[in-house]
Amino acid sequence: MTTPTDSTNCLFCRIVAGELPADVVASSDNVIAFRDIDPQAPVHVLVVPRAHYGDVAQVAAGDADLLAEMVSLADQVAGTLADGQFRLIFNSGPRAGQSVFHVHAHVIAGEQLGWSPA
Ligand code: IMP
Repeated sequence: MTTPTDSTNCLFCRIVAGELPADVVASSDNVIAFRDIDPQAPVHVLVVPRAHYGDVAQVAAGDADLLAEMVSLADQVAGTLADGQFRLIFNSGPRAGQSVFHVHAHVIAGEQLGWSPA
């Protein structure tokens, strides 16, 4: 998937750098997790690597351990803020709904979830 990957003026790079505020709920060596500004569920947290990758395919190809660290932090967040059950969403590309081109996993939890994301 080809997506814009320029870290210049990247919103999430600026949050990672502390230049913009965020409600950080967890972090690890290479990943931070902060609440989505427009939550779609009682728990809606974005899990974001500190390094800039455009989308999930790029981080998987570039650093599979980093992708695993993202999933691990998502699991930790769901266990801390909810009951440990969660949905993990990577929108990849504009037609899939990606609007910020710094890879992030949406952790959705805290209620009984329905199914039909499309
Ligand atoms: P995407 O549409 O999958 O790229 O998800 C981007 C998410 O970032 C959306 O759910 C937005 O609500 C969220 N978002 C945008 N700006 C901010 C911010 O400044 N802080 C936290 N979340 C944000």
